[in-house]
Amino acid sequence: MSRATNFYAGPSVLPVEIFQEVADEMVDYQGTGLSLMETSHRSKTYDEVHNGAVDMMKELFSIPENYKVLFLGGGATMQFSMIPMNFLAGGKTADYTKTGTWSNKAVADAEKFGSVNTVFDGKEGGYSSLADATTLKVNEGSQYFHMTSNETIGGIQWKNWPETGNVPLICDMSSDILSRPVPVEKFGMIYAGAQKNLGPSGATVVIIRDDLVEKCPDSLPAYMNYKTHAKANSLYNTPPVFPIYVINLVLKRMLANGGLDGMVAHNKNKSDLLYSTIENSNGYYTSPVDKNYRSDMNVVFRMPTEELEKKFINEAEALQMFGLKGHRSVGGCRASIYNSMTVEGVETLTSFMKSFAAKN
Ligand SMILES: *Cc1c(COP(=O)(O)O)cnc(C)c1O
Repeated sequence: MSRATNFYAGPSVLPVEIFQEVADEMVDYQGTGLSLMETSHRSKTYDEVHNGAVDMMKELFSIPENYKVLFLGGGATMQFSMIPMNFLAGGKTADYTKTGTWSNKAVADAEKFGSVNTVFDGKEGGYSSLADATTLKVNEGSQYFHMTSNETIGGIQWKNWPETGNVPLICDMSSDILSRPVPVEKFGMIYAGAQKNLGPSGATVVIIRDDLVEKCPDSLPAYMNYKTHAKANSLYNTPPVFPIYVINLVLKRMLANGGLDGMVAHNKNKSDLLYSTIENSNGYYTSPVDKNYRSDMNVVFRMPTEELEKKFINEAEALQMFGLKGHRSVGGCRASIYNSMTVEGVETLTSFMKSFAAKN
């Protein structure tokens, strides 16, 4: 068996032991004689998988009692429209931070339902920096305040959270959920597509406070209403059974490896290694983002010329290191080093970076 080193931004690296466990259980799930893939979502077998994932999510992330953990379809992208559909209808206003590609997509969808107040706009600086979030001003009368904790393409990450008072704070944590502790009680809602830090694509985690669920208008189509899913424990319709099963295994492994504290140390170790390699390269590799807000998950860097970047990416691929090309909208290089990336994986990259710089 040969395993490459996976720096893809999403879908992204998962632990090899989990693939092996899934493979072992694929045809006969825990002696039931069925694959979980062909098992009813109303069965006792699936119930344990589903509720286990919900419970472990609550435990790992210290989610208070008055929140529901939902597993939906449609990706984080569907949340861009579900949020304003539920909380902004009738021309109401919400606060949004514009910090790059993903938050801007969320804004574009919100504007189809109501008005958007821009609280922070990083456009002028090319979305390469953020701010001390406690200085952000919340607008009185806003239905909610939306932010993107980690901009996956730009490689910037908020380091603290705003004080939003009675205005519910809603956050897209697709690319850094469960990578660091978060005061969940400060948030009205947190959502994340699974395929970066949690598991395969196909499931989206929504953590939503009960009072927000109560506000959802009954005029919405059933699936688009958070109330539908909260009441049915995400079993109103067929949930993404297989991704949720893999998420369950990922969470179980996290709990066994020191939970969130273990993850913070693991992630810091990796990002320090990579950023220090960039910094100690005498300007050969450069980080285009503000040092104060650089992401621990998506490390973007540039090289002296685009030709060298191309050569670097090609040679890395020949050495079985995949996904180092920056997003097509920004170019350059990007290494995504999510929770499941190993320290050894990052070391493979940094030693290649050093030898490439010496030779080129
Ligand atoms: C990947 C990503 C998305 C989009 O997720 P989908 O599941 O593909 O819809 C949204 N926001 C952020 C921050 C992301 O990284």
